[in-house]
Amino acid sequence: MDSVGVAAAAPDAGPGPAWQSKCPWGAPSTTSISCSLADVMSEQLAKELQLEEENAAFPEVVAAAEGPFITGENIDTSSDLMLAQMLQMEFDREYDAQLRREERKINGDSKVSISFENYRKVHPYDSDSSEDEVDWQDTRHDPYRADKPTTTPRRGFIGKGKDITTKHDEVVCGRKNTARMENFAPEFQVGDGIGMDLKLSNQVFNALKQHAYSEERRSARLHEKKEHSTAEKAVDPKTRLLLYKMVNSGMLETITGCISTGKESVVFHAYGGNATEDKDKVIPPECAIKVFKTTLNEFKNRDKYIKDDYRFKDRFSKLNPRKIIRMWAEKEMHNLTRMQNAGIPCPQVVILKKHVLVMSFIGQDQVPAPKLKDVTLSSEDMKKAYYQILNMMQQLYRECNLVHADLSEYNMLWHDGKVWLIDVSQSVEPTHPHGLEFLFRDCRNVSQFFQKGGVAEALNERELFNAVSGLNITADNEVDFQAEIEALEKMNEDHVQNHGKKLSMFSSDGDPPIYDE
Ligand code: ADP
Ligand code: MN
Repeated sequence: MDSVGVAAAAPDAGPGPAWQSKCPWGAPSTTSISCSLADVMSEQLAKELQLEEENAAFPEVVAAAEGPFITGENIDTSSDLMLAQMLQMEFDREYDAQLRREERKINGDSKVSISFENYRKVHPYDSDSSEDEVDWQDTRHDPYRADKPTTTPRRGFIGKGKDITTKHDEVVCGRKNTARMENFAPEFQVGDGIGMDLKLSNQVFNALKQHAYSEERRSARLHEKKEHSTAEKAVDPKTRLLLYKMVNSGMLETITGCISTGKESVVFHAYGGNATEDKDKVIPPECAIKVFKTTLNEFKNRDKYIKDDYRFKDRFSKLNPRKIIRMWAEKEMHNLTRMQNAGIPCPQVVILKKHVLVMSFIGQDQVPAPKLKDVTLSSEDMKKAYYQILNMMQQLYRECNLVHADLSEYNMLWHDGKVWLIDVSQSVEPTHPHGLEFLFRDCRNVSQFFQKGGVAEALNERELFNAVSGLNITADNEVDFQAEIEALEKMNEDHVQNHGKKLSMFSSDGDPPIYDE
């Protein structure tokens, strides 16, 4: 698989990359390249999962692959399905190119032209076909919402006179049972019972239902095991396919390597290609690809950010975990866009595909800009950075109506002589039930960092909080200050409950003072 995967495009990945000597901040002993691309892409477990999936879907094919044709020990047949899909994509593209040539030939210079559009195999970027391939747009209209159940009439029978049928009628009941099988878990193959007018007795139906439920539970358990055992660095086959498609479609030139593996995401570097869906959009020469992990355990403790975010409130309860992860990606995209519009230095969104967010790369020649915590700034730059952050926090609050909620020297990059904000998937609006607490924590991180860094002008966390929010909390110690913050949050919640809108102190008429050098 690796020979055709995105990994193939990464000749430079691995230890000791060339950029180390070029790094303008001196040779970093703590390199940000935390693993090789191959590590991430050839995840043993992902393969096992794939194999398992294929075993279920095509038992005989896999059996054949294990036959006498394979001689070498290390020939990897585990990703045949994906390989086939990739080859198919390649084939479809060639087919389309041929179609386009024929179309041109037939039309020539003629004023009237015919289009072969409908015969095309690949429509740019939407050739997703597998079962849960729903784009982020779909999360607005949850396609999995259950239909309104059809009820049996109260009186328990339909019709008149001798045509009367009761709900106990054997034939009707049998057909109904067959139809009800459709409600079993989607992976449970029920066949075309309706098409062949199958009539299931209650007894058989109930036995099947029992079986379907226990299968569902078993598969959920298996699934959970997989989620937990998938190692930190995993990029599952579906994600690999998604990345491959991005390269294949020409949107990305190459994916060169992995910049960071965190608990919740893996970030790759890529060179931008030149094919876009939107003709006016230019893909940045270098991109960062943030893959939100589909391993769910890490996301569980992040519930509080999104669950109480009213923007996602209606959706949260209905969604499955996979969709919730897509929602993180979606949230990061929306938040970055707001910041971009306010002119805050941050990555520019290129595209979002499911749980994969492509944005512009902060850094140069594959070298990511260093985090503020890793860079040694002159005292002059340090002071400059401090005022810039103060301003950005105010802009974020006032113009973007956002609180970063994970702001620290870890999520600020130093590039081009200024600070860039990243990692905003958890950012919330100030009126979020815990928004002000998050802001206070951000303020504490920022003011501690700069006070330790020797910036004499740095406000303390309480002053910074007031400067950013425009609120005027007077408590002179942390405990009281925090208590007041929580009281404000509660007041706002109650207000929202009673009046359906937020308190006026959160609206923008009470602008906070602008701080400047
Ligand atoms: P996490 O949730 O894993 O902390 P981040 O968004 O902070 O995710 O990304 C992890 C790391 O990847 C960052 O610390 C940074 O070094 C790098 N990174 C992320 N986005 C970019 C980008 N657009 N340009 C350059 N480096 C990036
Ligand atoms: Mn981060």
